[in-house]
Amino acid sequence: MKVQKIELYHISIPLPADFYPSWIPGYPQKFNRCTLIKLTTDDGLVGYSGGVAMEEEREGLGSLLGQYLIGQEVEKIDEVRQLIREASYLGWRNSWIEAAFWDLIGKKEGKPLYKLLGGEGGKVLTYCSTGEVHEPAQRAEEVLAIRDLGFSIVKLRVHDFDIKKDIEQLKVVRQAVGDTMKIGVDANQGWPVTIINKPPIWDLDRATEFAKACEEYDISWLEEPLDMYAFDEMAELRRRTKTPIAGGELTSGWHEHKIMFEKESLDIYQPDATFCGIDTAVKIMQEANRRGLKYKPHTWSNGIGFAINLQLAAANPNREPLEFPYEPPGWIPKYRDGILSEPFEVDSEGFVTVPDKPGLGFEISEEALKRYGRKFFEMTPGSLAIKTIKQRGLFNALRLAKAKKQD
Ligand SMILES: [Mg+2]
Repeated sequence: MKVQKIELYHISIPLPADFYPSWIPGYPQKFNRCTLIKLTTDDGLVGYSGGVAMEEEREGLGSLLGQYLIGQEVEKIDEVRQLIREASYLGWRNSWIEAAFWDLIGKKEGKPLYKLLGGEGGKVLTYCSTGEVHEPAQRAEEVLAIRDLGFSIVKLRVHDFDIKKDIEQLKVVRQAVGDTMKIGVDANQGWPVTIINKPPIWDLDRATEFAKACEEYDISWLEEPLDMYAFDEMAELRRRTKTPIAGGELTSGWHEHKIMFEKESLDIYQPDATFCGIDTAVKIMQEANRRGLKYKPHTWSNGIGFAINLQLAAANPNREPLEFPYEPPGWIPKYRDGILSEPFEVDSEGFVTVPDKPGLGFEISEEALKRYGRKFFEMTPGSLAIKTIKQRGLFNALRLAKAKKQD
């Protein structure tokens, strides 16, 4: 099965209200944006993936990517991964594209991704992942409403310059819910974004002090308390606190994860298959299981990213509660998953059903694609040949075609 056509779309879904992500202080997010890739094979199968986008920054991605992927054997995932990696040496970080190949393999074999990876279906327990920093009293009320929806676990955000205010979040919410809910907390220190307001930057001392407060309020995990590359400091923090330390959402390579495992930097590994690739995510899951640690993927990007990481969570023999991004009124399933034919919702006990459909388990809504999408690139073997002749001349085009055929 070979790739015969590559199409790329900008997707931009207007949110019903501004969303203020804690990880970009001061930034009013008005759209849920991604780049959608659509691969069509010589068998006529169609595979998709989505990469989170701020704007239309991938406008030129196709001209880099096309020649790498046209004609590629879909089932040779090692080759696919290497080609995607090579394209990122020369241009964009592209691991999100690997999932479209898994989508095709699953569709060809008639199996959902979790089954291809040896997992079982059914339901996955989720935790409600809030995305903004609110006043503690307001947040406490919201968490009670979240509990009423069926969630038994919630993740809070802290991002204040004053540690007392951060600790106040834990205290007030814990008092409100008593022991009826588990609480996690995300400090979003892994990859600070300074584009609008300056974020607070934690050092090991502040992380230690906050982790101690987490112990006091029985916090189930502390996420990204330090920079994503502070491998030694995170290991030291683990020695200083009983609170489990989580991280790695934007750590995209296996080799970096390997160092974190060796240094014992984390209790909970949170790679996102749309940032690191499915193959790498599986490797991290297996290593975490082998070491008696936890694999709990990050999912906060868009509906496609959630769907992909849901399949991985379902493939894990040691299932952990999965992140369910939810921050009304701006960030809710209808808009988060606005490009899918069916948004993912939780049931009255906080579970999400793992789709049984072959591939990644979602369908793109043609209507939403028309409304929110703009195709900006298309390539077929024919159009690649014409481009190559135009850019490099007929002699070189023939030489390149011959070299490609030989491997
Ligand atoms: Mg996080």
